[in-house]
Amino acid sequence: MSYIVGLTGGIGSGKSTIAYLFAALGVPIVDADIVAREVVACGKPALKMIANHFGQEILLADGTLNRTLLRKKIFENPGEKNWLNTLLHPIIRQECLDQLSAIKSPYVLFVVPLLIENGLNNLCQSILVVDVSEETQLNRTCQRDQQSEKLIKKIISSQISRVERLKWATEIIENNIDLSENFCHLAKEVLTLHHLYLSKSQL
Ligand code: ATP
Repeated sequence: MSYIVGLTGGIGSGKSTIAYLFAALGVPIVDADIVAREVVACGKPALKMIANHFGQEILLADGTLNRTLLRKKIFENPGEKNWLNTLLHPIIRQECLDQLSAIKSPYVLFVVPLLIENGLNNLCQSILVVDVSEETQLNRTCQRDQQSEKLIKKIISSQISRVERLKWATEIIENNIDLSENFCHLAKEVLTLHHLYLSKSQL
């Protein structure tokens, strides 16, 4: 099994941006958000169970999951949210483990927004936190997603606090400075971390 580096951070902190820099160095990536979508793809057992539970109306005409309707249902009913999490969390964890186990590289970057919240940190040997101020998080996410500040604030408060997340970090990337001024510095930091993880993976 490869050495696993968990990459986490709050919404809009810059995880994808940092993951891209590791990928450019040839580091394999397992992305929990992608896995979470794959396990409810057409024909997957979890999708059938969701349709049995919520009714066929939860599927679109092409048989794929109606995510908007599902989000609405679980937003309105915390019991349904629990049901869905109880179904999906073990399946997502197992699929992540399968993908991580299949990697044949010294180390793998495991990108998980809710790494600590969902207990996936215990699969990782290192935890790299992308850290930004809440103000930066709000500005960048509102701009990227064209969503209201109120909604983004609500998502931020549903996630683990910045202070708590940083307590779990073995390494931190600070991503407050704009890329236009800081790209070279960030790329160098990622290269330094790359060498660190290569050496940690050989211990
Ligand atoms: P999410 O948790 O929502 O998946 P994320 O943590 O992956 O988000 P990104 O998508 O990488 O975050 O970054 C959020 C937005 O901020 C993107 O539009 C990205 O291009 C921009 N961004 C990231 N880092 C910087 C930076 N240093 N300077 C300017 N813009 C940045």
